[in-house]
Parts: sequence; structure tokens; C-alpha cells
Amino acid sequence: MDSDTNIYDVVILGGSLAGSSTGLLLSRRFPGCKIAVIEKSADFGRRVGEATVEVSGFFLSRVLGLTQYLNENHLNKQGMRFWFSNDQTSQLDQCSEVGGRYLARMPAWQVDRSTLDLEVLSQAERSGVQVIRPAKVNRVRLADGGLQTVDLETLGVRRTVRARWVVDATGFTALLARQNGWFHRNAEHPTSAIWTRWKKVKDFDGLELAGRFPEWASACKGVRGTATNHFMGDGWWAWCIPLKGGETSIGVVFDHRRVEIPPGDSIPERLRTFLSQHPVPRELLAEAEPVDGDANWRSHLAYCSSRFAGDGFVLVGDAAGFLDPFYSPGMDWLSYTVSRAVELIGNHLEGQDTKPLVGRFNQDFCKSYDRWFKAIYKDKYDVFGDFELMSIAFHLDLGMYYAGVVSQPVERGERALLEPVFSTPPSAVPFRLMSFYNRRLARMARDRRRRGTAGKHNNGRRFLLNGFLPERSTGSDILKAFTRYMKLELAEGWRSWFVQEPLENTPPIRP
Ligand SMILES: Cc1cc2nc3c(=O)[nH]c(=O)nc-3n(C[C@H](O)[C@H](O)[C@H](O)COP(=O)(O)OP(=O)(O)OC[C@H]3O[C@@H](n4cnc5c(N)ncnc54)[C@H](O)[C@@H]3O)c2cc1C
Repeated sequence: MDSDTNIYDVVILGGSLAGSSTGLLLSRRFPGCKIAVIEKSADFGRRVGEATVEVSGFFLSRVLGLTQYLNENHLNKQGMRFWFSNDQTSQLDQCSEVGGRYLARMPAWQVDRSTLDLEVLSQAERSGVQVIRPAKVNRVRLADGGLQTVDLETLGVRRTVRARWVVDATGFTALLARQNGWFHRNAEHPTSAIWTRWKKVKDFDGLELAGRFPEWASACKGVRGTATNHFMGDGWWAWCIPLKGGETSIGVVFDHRRVEIPPGDSIPERLRTFLSQHPVPRELLAEAEPVDGDANWRSHLAYCSSRFAGDGFVLVGDAAGFLDPFYSPGMDWLSYTVSRAVELIGNHLEGQDTKPLVGRFNQDFCKSYDRWFKAIYKDKYDVFGDFELMSIAFHLDLGMYYAGVVSQPVERGERALLEPVFSTPPSAVPFRLMSFYNRRLARMARDRRRRGTAGKHNNGRRFLLNGFLPERSTGSDILKAFTRYMKLELAEGWRSWFVQEPLENTPPIRP
């Protein structure tokens, strides 16, 4: 663009997955384009965002082309699995279970982000992207339609670079959104998370547990250990994600209005104490040791930017917003924001008018975040502790995800990633349906809690699915799930049809 070494076509702030994949895709499409990635850290440490799901799996494997790399360096993921407990469960095999009976049918991986992000950044560098690292961006001055100015500091030296386009991929730092007053906490969803990695977590599929609980072991014909296992509680859930090499990532996400993590000397010990209320993590962590120096706590997880793009800037990945880690939507969101950012900048580089695209970008992602939240996450923490309600929610949510979301890239290829979830006109109907049944399930959960019947099926039950396909046949599975939901409405939902109670009326949970 210019002979000045400090002037670029595109400068990307943050070199983790969102930033590096934006750089990689742009440099592949426009080999002569002058692109820089500015990354604060000297090395990527372990980070959350370790479970991919079907859309992010598609993005990593089919769009970025990483299938072989993922198979060699990470773990094939075997879907999601959920474990419930109540006062009748004293050991692992008594806990009710939701999950797959066999292996997963669509590709997804459990990834170590420290190595994955480095691989994508290195591929971007090899394809011509300049990586400036370690370098912290301090400030960005935006100029609509002009050159953007980025002030950074690298090894104690201050520098300024300019670019026609700035891509904010700074994750939770959300540099542009915070700097420009676009950053909004999602006040309806006050969640926090605490997590660490562990060594010597027991093998879900090993001989020890199979010897002690043979019936439990043979109930699942696939592999439990490489699934994302979820330990479920009232107002909280925990993930258990194995990583290549033997360590396991375990963390609790909780509604901080209702759940307190007990005090203790360290985050891992507080996590262990908290999880010991549930027989499954208690068993798995019996001999586990936390990985030194890996202790994390993050409050107020959910937020969103009110602007996503302008003529000269675009926000991708967590810098644009974050919903909730449940169902692992983070890298799906990343896949959509990155794909659209590449399209937006690409159109500009091809000499097209970007104004209409900028308008649609803001509209689509604003709608997508709002609807994604309302359809799936709003009040979901009321449902987590109840096997029966959660198994219906999961059955319906997953069926709808396969039918409406996963099917799109499978049928139409990567172009489908230009349409974020719930942003298109036909998605209005599934959005309303999902918001409706999830709201009703949350209402029923609160009603059960009030009547003292919450979690009564959390022991001795197993709901094992044969697995969904991104095909028409999934329609009959969704119908089955919907029939289960309707039966529940008739059996007990009527109790809360005309009751409107605020969440604050429910008793706090203090494990
Ligand atoms: C508790 C929890 C669990 C999660 N689990 C999952 C999961 O299982 N699956 C999933 O898909 N998602 C999950 N997510 C979400 C996932 O972590 C994110 O969606 C994903 O990591 C976003 O990647 P990113 O590249 O946008 O941001 P990040 O990975 O946060 O990267 C941002 C980068 O920007 C750099 N940076 C920041 N500030 C500056 C600056 N000023 N100058 C230069 N560089 C800067 C940072 O060093 C970093 O490398 C989880 C999130 C949380 C909070």
C-alpha cells in the first residue's frame, strides 16, 4: 500500500486464534496484502477455549485446513456428556447421565490452545503476515474511511503503525470496544468461572472404574473420556476436557448471584472442595494434582460490543462479545466473526463499496448475539441441576443446532459461515421456538425447586442418544424431543403456566 514500513493494509491486534486465523485467511486470499499481527505475549500459555464443536470443528478443519495437524496434535472429541447428582447418589455409577451411546458422527477436537494458536500464527507468518511480538497495543485512533493509527509498545520501545484496516482480536481485553465505550456487560447473565488443569485425573474408560462399576462401564459403547464431560449442579456446571499429553482442564462456571465457591488456600483447592459435592468429579479427582501456576478466575463472563465494524475497523472473536462457555459456542462465534471480517476487508481490497457490508455486519452480529443469548442461555442456570429438564433441553438444543446450524456449512461449505447464527430471516422461527421452550423449562425448574422436587431423577437414570446427523432425519429426533417436552408441560408444566415469579425468590445455593 505504501513504501513507509509503518503503513499496512491491515493491522491485527492480538495473535491468538481469532487474530491469527484472520491474518492467515486474508494472506491466502490476497498474497500481496501487507498485514501485521501485534501480539502482547511472548509465548501462548494454556488458555480456555479447548473444546471445539461442529461449526468450529468445520472452521478449523475445512476452512483453515488443519485436519491432519489436529489429528496428530490434539484429541478427537466424542461429543458432550452430562452428569447429575442428588442426595441419593453417593458414588459415580448412581449419577444420572446424558450423552452419546456411541462415538460422535461429526468431527470436533479437544485442543490445547497454546499449541493450536501458535500453529495458526506460524502458518500466517509463513504465508506473509508480519508478526510483531511481544508488543502491546496501547491505543488505537480510528479514522472513518482513512488510515487508522495504532500506538504500541514493544520491549520498552514505543512505536506507531498505521493501517487502512484494524482488526481487534484482543479477546476479553476488547480493546476497541472498551476504548470507544461500546463494551456492555450482559447484566441478565451474571456468571463467573474458576478453572485449572490437572494431572492424574482418573481414566473414565479405564479398567479401575470398569472393574468397580461394570454395568456403568458397559452402558456406553463409545468413549466417555474424550467427550467434554459436564458435572451439573443447581446454578452451576463444570467442564472436564482432556488434553493431548495427559492433562485435563477442569473448571466451574456459576451464576454468582446464587453460588459461592468455598474459601480455601488456592484456586485448585477451592475448586476441588466445591466439586467434591458431586460424586463424579470427586471420584475422578481423587488422586489428581493441579498443574503448578495454572489457576484462573474470571468474573462477569458475558458481554458484547454495541459496534462490530466501521469503515476501517472490525472486531472478531471475544473482542466482539462473549456469551457463555456452556455448549462451547466461543469458537463458533469466532468462526463467524472472522469469516465476515475477511469478507468485509476482502471486498474493500477488491475495490468494492464497503458501506452496505459494514451496516449489515453490525446488524447481523448484534441480532445474532441477542438471539443466541435469549434462545439458549437466558435463565439456563436454573435448569442445569435437573436431569429430566436438562435432558430435554439438551435433546432439543442439540437437534436444533444440527438441523439449523451444523447442516449449513455441511451443505453449503464455508459461505455458510458468513451468516451468523439466528441472523437470517428463516431463523426467526427456530429462535422463537427455542426461546419459548428454554424459558418454560427454566420456569418449571424454579417451580420444582419451590416444591422440593428439583433433581428427583438425578440418580439412576441414563439418557443416551445415538447421535444427530446434519440431515433431514434429524427432524424426527427433534419431534421426539419436542414430544417429551410437551408431555412434561401436560404432566406438570401447567402448574407454572400463569405464574410469573422473579429469580430472586429462589433460595440461594451454598454447597
Ligand atoms: C471459562 C471459559 C471457558 C471456555 N471454554 C470454551 C470452549 O470449551 N470452547 C470454545 O469454543 N470456547 C470456549 N471459551 C471461549 C474461548 O476461550 C474464546 O472464544 C476464544 O479463546 C477466543 O479467542 P480470541 O482469539 O478471540 O481471544 P483470546 O484467545 O483471548 O486471544 C486474545 C489475544 O489478544 C492478545 N492481546 C490482548 N490485549 C492485547 C494488546 N493490548 N495488545 C496486543 N495483544 C493483545 C492476548 O495476548 C491474546 O493472545 C471459553 C471461555 C471461557 C471464559
